Amino acid sequence: MRILGVLAAAMSLAAANAAAADSRVVLVTLDGLRWQEVFRGAETALAEDPTYVEDRKAVKAAYLDPTDRKAALMPFLHEVVAKQGVLIGDRDNGSCARVTNDQWFSYPGYNEILTGRPDPAIRSNDPTPNANVTVLEWLNRQPGFKGKVAAFTSWNVFPAIINAERSGVPVDAGMTTPKARTSFEAALGRMQTQTPRIWATVRFDVFTHNYALEALKRDKPRMVYISYGETDDFAHEGHYGLTLDAARRTDGFLRELWTALQADKAYGGKTTLIVTTDHGRGAGDKKGDWKSHGKVLWPRSDETWIAVIGPGVKAGLSKTPQCAGADQVAATALTALGLDWKAFDPTAGAPLPIFEDPR
Ligand SMILES: [Zn+2]
Repeated sequence: MRILGVLAAAMSLAAANAAAADSRVVLVTLDGLRWQEVFRGAETALAEDPTYVEDRKAVKAAYLDPTDRKAALMPFLHEVVAKQGVLIGDRDNGSCARVTNDQWFSYPGYNEILTGRPDPAIRSNDPTPNANVTVLEWLNRQPGFKGKVAAFTSWNVFPAIINAERSGVPVDAGMTTPKARTSFEAALGRMQTQTPRIWATVRFDVFTHNYALEALKRDKPRMVYISYGETDDFAHEGHYGLTLDAARRTDGFLRELWTALQADKAYGGKTTLIVTTDHGRGAGDKKGDWKSHGKVLWPRSDETWIAVIGPGVKAGLSKTPQCAGADQVAATALTALGLDWKAFDPTAGAPLPIFEDPR
């Protein structure tokens, strides 16, 4: 009996190790989506303002009338992730998340998320190849990960942020249409070129999302990065209703992604989904503060949020003892993969304290 017990324990340990050895991470960012919308839902004053919303009746019905406004806006985040995983950053309830860089816009934010450190030298969104090594690049050089790292992004600056050339990480970004390997990808590519283009540097998220889903099904990468962009672009243009629609659509993307992962033998039960944002948006007294972000003109646009769901992640955790930093995301991803984050960069932010067992 005792021998069997020991054997069973050894076998379950072996199973746990095998699971850790095959663990996967999908990291997703929603560009510039404020914690205020994530945790409070639509803001009445903005949703009722004719300057910001054309179809106020539809916006009211979809986002203001429901009793639970936050769940009306982001049902997957609140009904699934916040219950089965962690959702941090609700400042109304004593939780806190932020970027630690001093710029509060995209390239500095994504660099911080992906490298685990703010870089004070990054002070613009210019597509300058990143001198820093991202966690994607590092993983792409580790045994068991080479060729199993991929990125899908709506913004076309990511090949520079991830330094696609040096890192060898494939970055499907902006309007670049990857060589179609399936008839669905060929159709996506056709539709992408046939769809009206409204931003010079950002494609619609529907393409990013579907290219990513298709590659997940086919290539089974172990570390995937997906960056959606519409929540930022519609906000910059002052379209509050379209920004809310983008948030809800992206929440649907997350649900579709999570459902597909759970149904896939390569991912089900061994994949951690991390979702966050590269910056907040203004929340000061000036009218229109919500539209933009940046340290100089838009107060509090360093305030963000972070969500994580996956095996070993605490269920229902809504705050961390210290304010959670974007610089902790890289180490959190590596910890979820069962790797030593200090081997990546001992000066990176430590993993978020969100795992059941101390790792
Ligand atoms: Zn922006």
